[in-house]
Amino acid sequence: MTLPINGLHHVTSLASDPQSNSDFFTKTLGLRRVKKTVNFDAPNVYHLYYGDERGTPGTVMTYFPFPHIAPARPGVGEVGETVFAVPKGSMGFWTERLTGLGVQGMVQTDAFGEKRLRFLGPDQDALALVEVEGDPRQGWTSGGVGTAEAVRGFRGASLRLRDAGATAELLRFMGYEERERDGSVIRFGVANGNGADIIDIETLPGAEHAEQGAGSVHHIAFSVPDRASQDEVRKALVDTGWQVTPPIDRDYFWAIYFRTPGGVLFEVATDAPGFDRDEDLAHLGQSLKLPHQHEPLRARLEHHLQPITD
Ligand code: ZN
Repeated sequence: MTLPINGLHHVTSLASDPQSNSDFFTKTLGLRRVKKTVNFDAPNVYHLYYGDERGTPGTVMTYFPFPHIAPARPGVGEVGETVFAVPKGSMGFWTERLTGLGVQGMVQTDAFGEKRLRFLGPDQDALALVEVEGDPRQGWTSGGVGTAEAVRGFRGASLRLRDAGATAELLRFMGYEERERDGSVIRFGVANGNGADIIDIETLPGAEHAEQGAGSVHHIAFSVPDRASQDEVRKALVDTGWQVTPPIDRDYFWAIYFRTPGGVLFEVATDAPGFDRDEDLAHLGQSLKLPHQHEPLRARLEHHLQPITD
């Protein structure tokens, strides 16, 4: 049985300041802010989404900015690095652009024979760009980032674990196959995926557990086409003994969540209905959108939430 998982859907992280977060992902990395809403479970905090033109699954980086949150302490049991795909030959452009904009922590590497540029986000978020040849996805072009350079979406993410075993087994169950090894990193990929196909597991047996805070990933979500496929994945997981939440309506997708043995929170999210369900494509991400259950709080939230200027 092959489960209908297509790669990543979104990655959700924690931030401190919403304005610096929005500026970094739109003005520095050139993504489009495709939704400005609130954390449905804690509506006094924003939920900001960045991606390609329409927030195609596999391109969507999302943040909960908590203005007074403490910085994260990196460790095991979490996502180690979130990796975006850029076109072959664009790394010179990106190195120059990020250097010019004062981005911190820039390091070039060539693990798995790929040209990778690691750098830190506004809350020391561990991010990277990797050159991918022939990625058919269209990037969002804006502010000096053209078609030849634009971020295509995620390439994938790395998990930093004390022990790879049980999580590797879970990934195989979800349809991922082991592709390569480089040092202490095992690379998994999903066939016929959406471009955000790669999960790397880095094993660090002696490392301390991570403490979540500003700059750390809260969870990663995998993409399934629709609710029927999500039900199929959920049933397969539950039948194997995983504790999985019921499907939850997130307005732009349906979500189920489960905690992996290494400590990372996984979600499986539907591609439908998408981010244009409550505003038109030309204006995505501009006005504050609230789910119907929080609409009565609008006046209070608009007063409380720090305004974000583009
Ligand atoms: Zn999510």
